[in-house]
Amino acid sequence: MPPLVRLAAASVLLLGYASAATLEDTSLKVLTFGPRVTGTPASQQARALLEREFRSLGYQTRNEQFTYAKVSDLGSAVRVGGASVPGHAMQGSGSSEVTAPAVRVPGGGGAEDFAQVDVRGKVAVTQRGQVQFGDMAREAQARGAVGLIIINQLPGELRGNLGRAVTLPVLGVSQETGARLTSGTRVTLTVRVQEREVTGFNLVAFKAGVTRPDLLFGAHLDSVPGAPGANDNLSGALAVLELARRTANDPLSARSFFVLFDGEEDGLRGSRAFVKANGPLVAGLRGMLNFDMVGIDARPLLISGEGKLLDWGRTALGDAVTEGRSNDSDHAAFREAGVSTLMFHRGLDANYHRPGDTLLDPALIRATADAALAIAAQVSVPATAR
Ligand SMILES: [Zn+2]
Repeated sequence: MPPLVRLAAASVLLLGYASAATLEDTSLKVLTFGPRVTGTPASQQARALLEREFRSLGYQTRNEQFTYAKVSDLGSAVRVGGASVPGHAMQGSGSSEVTAPAVRVPGGGGAEDFAQVDVRGKVAVTQRGQVQFGDMAREAQARGAVGLIIINQLPGELRGNLGRAVTLPVLGVSQETGARLTSGTRVTLTVRVQEREVTGFNLVAFKAGVTRPDLLFGAHLDSVPGAPGANDNLSGALAVLELARRTANDPLSARSFFVLFDGEEDGLRGSRAFVKANGPLVAGLRGMLNFDMVGIDARPLLISGEGKLLDWGRTALGDAVTEGRSNDSDHAAFREAGVSTLMFHRGLDANYHRPGDTLLDPALIRATADAALAIAAQVSVPATAR
């Protein structure tokens, strides 16, 4: 994580009041739909409800469709010593079952480590470390291994992504499972994955006639399976809606786009699709403000980013806005396209990606919107007037 500092309460400007009932009411209604996994009816219902809210505020809306291949784990495991122990198929793994002796690759699973053992016709077993999962998998495949098992170096289960797909079955396992995978032990590695096409929709709201906004306020609306996604990230979506509400009768709305992204949890799919589909609009942006997990104060509001938007942020809020690069939310897609970005975040709460993610505090969402509006107000001010 980048170095981040807390936002001093005194530096938050209060630029107006929203209807308390509306924000609370909207969050309760959206949460009744359940986890908003991309491509599911719940995600569609939530988006439709929020679309009606944007429209009731006088915005036009459109749904931008995109598709991507999503790999689902249908049940993957390793059988060792008569017992079958579940693991997680790495994203990009091949789908097959192999039985062969295990061979432990020393060190961190780099090319030089693989060179010390013979993995041909065997199931290579590596320890997670500095080497990328995908590099391990390609090394194992190139050296003739029939499968690869990667052991977590931290407590807990191991999930991961290989980047480019391989034909080899690749499984992530816990340390406990890994301890049983000694060299020479015969194992049966079963990786069962299925790829299917998923359709997502970004909800885009804007005032009539606005095609080249200065600012884009964005947040992902999708959530992971099994998690209601109150803080991650209905909170951010509501911050964007709150900004649309607060600016509805303000000139700022004529210079802004408000976007609720889909497919974030599957790897920033929606924001990347938006950037790709809206080249001229994105090229003309002076800043993208992204809101992810702003409804629970796991830690005080963190605002990090780069470029001109960072300068404007510091002018508005002082050192509460810090330089920093995080790649784990939708602003990253815009930064890659050369846009200045700021990421608003209040830390990972204990219910992150869990069934308990049912809570958000509307007051924190409003405070987040206050901070964003203070920064947005700077964007149109000529440098000489500051
Ligand atoms: Zn999130």
